Amino acid sequence: MVRPKTEEEIELLRINGELVSKTLAEVGKWVAPGVTTGVAPGVTTAKLNEVAETFIRDHGAIPSFKGFEGFPAALCISVNDVVVHGFPSDYALKEGDIVSVDCGTLYKGYNGDSAYTFPVGEVDAETRKLLDVTKASLYKGIEQAVAGNRTGDIGYAVQSYAESYGFSVVRELEGHGLGTKMHEEPGVPNYGRQGHGARLADGLVICIEPMICAGGRGVYLARNGWAVHTADHKNAAHYELTVVVRKGRAEQLSTFDFIEKGTL
Ligand code: MG
Ligand code: MG
Repeated sequence: MVRPKTEEEIELLRINGELVSKTLAEVGKWVAPGVTTGVAPGVTTAKLNEVAETFIRDHGAIPSFKGFEGFPAALCISVNDVVVHGFPSDYALKEGDIVSVDCGTLYKGYNGDSAYTFPVGEVDAETRKLLDVTKASLYKGIEQAVAGNRTGDIGYAVQSYAESYGFSVVRELEGHGLGTKMHEEPGVPNYGRQGHGARLADGLVICIEPMICAGGRGVYLARNGWAVHTADHKNAAHYELTVVVRKGRAEQLSTFDFIEKGTL
């Protein structure tokens, strides 16, 4: 049984949502050269992880990914053809890369979980389109996260939008409920059929997180057992927000505003 959250629980999830949003913006200062701080490209993904872990702990929270089923870091950092679950490393970002940063927090027993794909300097037009379409597909999904709809309505909205641009949807991974656990019911696939799947109740808190490929949707798991790569080694993008299902219109608990409006 999927249980909607109480308003008290939603408050704690909102605090976490704000913290992951701010953490992603803090990380973004390092990966977006010249945009906010003028930091040059060449930062390692390990440095991004360090920035995030310090920021999260300075706010009294715990980076929930670290140690989760053995994951070694505070952030999942996935560059170019890595879809999700990449390990931070000594890889230095270079102009034209894209870097997907997935961040989780735990504060007062509740979780935050959001992700953003940053361009590193100037990216080519096709890659820029991949980023824009993936993010827009997330908002298309959020539009469907209203009481009475089903998870298939979200998946259909994401899939039909992304595929209309010639991109493909990863099917092996999906969004999820969020609460005291990082992954709760229901699963929220990024593909599906309208009117199918779990029914969405008022107060249900879910993460919607399209993973969209520039090429084919085939993926494989790296030998480290974590990093998911595109089979054709073309780029993939990943954006994730946490929302509360409400009547009429979903309420966002996390936001990209701190990244995109420079308001951190
Ligand atoms: Mg995530
Ligand atoms: Mg998630």
